[in-house]
Amino acid sequence: MTVLPVTIWGEPVLHRRASEVEVFDDELRTLIADMFETNDAANAVGLAAPQIGVGKRIFVYKYPNDDGVPEQGVLVNPVLTLSKISGALPDPDEDVEGCLSFPGEHYPLQRAEWARVQGFDGHGNPIDFEATGWFARVMQHEYDHLDGKLYINRLVDRYAKKAMKQAKKQGWGVPGLTWMPGVDPDPFGHDH
Ligand code: ZN
Repeated sequence: MTVLPVTIWGEPVLHRRASEVEVFDDELRTLIADMFETNDAANAVGLAAPQIGVGKRIFVYKYPNDDGVPEQGVLVNPVLTLSKISGALPDPDEDVEGCLSFPGEHYPLQRAEWARVQGFDGHGNPIDFEATGWFARVMQHEYDHLDGKLYINRLVDRYAKKAMKQAKKQGWGVPGLTWMPGVDPDPFGHDH
């Protein structure tokens, strides 16, 4: 298995809709194994294929949950059904997300408290479960990547402005930028 470089805000594959997986073959399963490896090396709770430069509808997660769902898994061609998202301002302490492709930053946003998650594993077997709370949030965050969206694109004005300022300061927003989990310093300060 191989740890792959993680794409950063501005890389075009992050900002366009990923395409459906059509063949469940060894190549797909190798890609999924590499995604798990990269997710672990980055100490992350989830990773979507566009984040390793692949425009396919695949994400992996590693998140212990109270929903009776395996704590680690893959979703290929996922479909999400969501409960209503609150229109209240997000809590800056409780509702905070981060993203490997906007490294080192955290901003709050509202998400649905409940999601039904359907899709396939790497062998084409159907997956169907319900996720609540933070697990539901992880599902929504990763799914967004497959539609060319980062959580940054969902921020309310005040946080969107801060995020764009930070991107400019870091020199992001241009193609070709990546960072290497396990090699570059952990942007979120986890220990290795
Ligand atoms: Zn992300």
